[in-house]
Amino acid sequence: MFKILHKERLAPGINLFEVEAPRIAKHAKPGQFVIIRLHERGERIPLTIADFDRDKGSITIVAQEVGKTTKELGTYEEGDYIHDILGPLGNPSHVDKFGTVVMVGGGVGVAEIYPVARAMKEKGNYVISILGFRTKDLVFWEDKLRKVSDEVIVTTNDGSYGMKGFTTHALQKLIDEGRKIDLVHAVGPAIMMKAVAELTKPYGIKTVASLNPIMVDGTGMCGACRVTVGGEIKFACVDGPEFDAHLVDWDELMKRLSYYRDLERISLEKWER
Ligand code: FAD
Repeated sequence: MFKILHKERLAPGINLFEVEAPRIAKHAKPGQFVIIRLHERGERIPLTIADFDRDKGSITIVAQEVGKTTKELGTYEEGDYIHDILGPLGNPSHVDKFGTVVMVGGGVGVAEIYPVARAMKEKGNYVISILGFRTKDLVFWEDKLRKVSDEVIVTTNDGSYGMKGFTTHALQKLIDEGRKIDLVHAVGPAIMMKAVAELTKPYGIKTVASLNPIMVDGTGMCGACRVTVGGEIKFACVDGPEFDAHLVDWDELMKRLSYYRDLERISLEKWER
């Protein structure tokens, strides 16, 4: 059982939980994730480790309410317990001295890029973070990303805050300005990561993306999270979750993400009753 030490509503439908998990905090590295199960009858869902505090023995997860389990998690409060947390899982991000690294986070992906941006900065990279949200009310962690980045660009689809447009517009602008970019690291909705990959490919800018396929066991056994990368089948849980974005079969990933939409809707409706 894992105690929730702190809960915060970061934006409508986006919740932060700092959870007591000393053994996971001790081993966690940027880019890794956990699989949680809220209670004995709960389903397993993967969530990225958005932060960790080894001294306090806690990890932070940030979850966007999209369906039954993430909405149920949203009802949990400080002092409540999450039944199981398995992790840290997945390969840590490849953090090295690349030069200029552009971190691209879309929506809840902003929380997921934070520990990687921090590690990239600590390695001596020049870090530019592009944070994309639909609208001003959904903006979170701009302050946190500013502390670990040399530059931060916020985009909103409707132009209510920062630059109007998508994260790819901000990235295109940097490229058009002739900025030297050595690595792009993208986390967010699959459609955004696909767009980032399509943008950077013709320029030959190395791009990695953290994939978010449906994942069940997280240890390479069930195969639910299989993705095609460079024509080969990979399991995102053990081979990833980060891959060369130019080699990912994005259309297959997006198709697989919507496979269970009807069942997920029924499950949410049942829970809401
Ligand atoms: P459902 O109604 O069951 O599903 C809604 C949609 O979420 C589905 O259509 C599908 O596209 C996706 N989904 C459903 N079940 C799973 C599953 N078991 N695994 C992955 N996707 C699923 N979300 C966050 O908000 N914050 C994070 O930090 C985060 N990190 C992730 C890290 C990894 C490695 C992966 C693979 C996914 C991550 N996700 C994250 C996505 C998150 O796991 C899903 O949003 C969640 O499982 C949805 O469950 P649900 O019951 O609320 O919604």
